[in-house]
Amino acid sequence: MPKHPTLFRGAVVRSVRFSPSMRRVTVSGADFADFLWRGYDHWFRLFLQLPHQDGFMLPQLEGSKWWEPYLAVPEDVRPHCANYTVADFRPETAELDIDFVVHSGPTGEPEGNAAIWSCAARPGDPMALLDQGLLFDCPSEASEVLVVADESGLPATAGILRSLPRDTVGHVIQEIPVAGDRRHLDAPDGVRVTWVVRDDADAIPGAAALRELRRRHEVDVSGYAFVVGESTLATEGRRHLHRAGLPKDRITFSGFWKHTRAKP
Ligand SMILES: Cc1cc2nc3c(=O)[nH]c(=O)nc-3n(C[C@H](O)[C@H](O)[C@H](O)COP(=O)(O)OP(=O)(O)OC[C@H]3O[C@@H](n4cnc5c(N)ncnc54)[C@H](O)[C@@H]3O)c2cc1C
Repeated sequence: MPKHPTLFRGAVVRSVRFSPSMRRVTVSGADFADFLWRGYDHWFRLFLQLPHQDGFMLPQLEGSKWWEPYLAVPEDVRPHCANYTVADFRPETAELDIDFVVHSGPTGEPEGNAAIWSCAARPGDPMALLDQGLLFDCPSEASEVLVVADESGLPATAGILRSLPRDTVGHVIQEIPVAGDRRHLDAPDGVRVTWVVRDDADAIPGAAALRELRRRHEVDVSGYAFVVGESTLATEGRRHLHRAGLPKDRITFSGFWKHTRAKP
């Protein structure tokens, strides 16, 4: 994470349906001319104005602190905040792409303030992001790289694969809601990609990727693993890999979100 995370203010340029379950929102602005995309899973805190809000007031950041200044913004104009990954960045136009999973509630309607915002985003809508850097932390001598993710981690998977040295060997287990969410991944030749298509609107995201991971009995103890997505996938995936012999300091895991609804 950068020592003093930088806030980039901008606005929506366009919002398009990227795949059946993903919306791609492109943002830009004068600040983005200075954005330094570090590749891999470069992530940020995204600040958004919600439909019921009349204003958009950003926190006054001090040093590395953001949470207290964020809470100090009056509630009626405090932006919604959610975490996202840089899906792409084009320095020549200073445009940054964000891929939002459009997740649905029990009635099938889109839910989640950020996901709903992405669907309704119009050119000119204000936004800002607070740069957070990378979670991916692969030791340079790692013998193999294993990436396991649900769809919220697909932008991270895509960024990692296109950033890895071309002689990397490894395996990716990538879960997606439906086959149409599959996309081209710029993976090194030695990295095998296994797509796990859930195809079940009632299944908890991440469970199928975890099952696929558990079918792998062998782990190279000098490898490195990156496991992200629904909280159970992240924690149980790490547990499985550690039991299989991978040291904890060779596993990056992060619960990108938490499933809270009881299974129907
Ligand atoms: C480092 C990092 C990077 C991330 N990058 C991305 C990214 O590039 N793209 C992306 O789509 N997400 C990404 N996420 C996950 C994203 O931050 C969460 O999904 C977040 O909860 C979405 O906010 P929201 O306002 O839409 O929903 P919230 O208001 O946070 O949640 C509303 C409801 O939706 C449920 N929910 C939240 N996310 C999902 C989901 N993905 N699938 C099903 N149900 C869900 C919650 O359980 C809750 O019940 C990332 C998270 C982290 C920590």
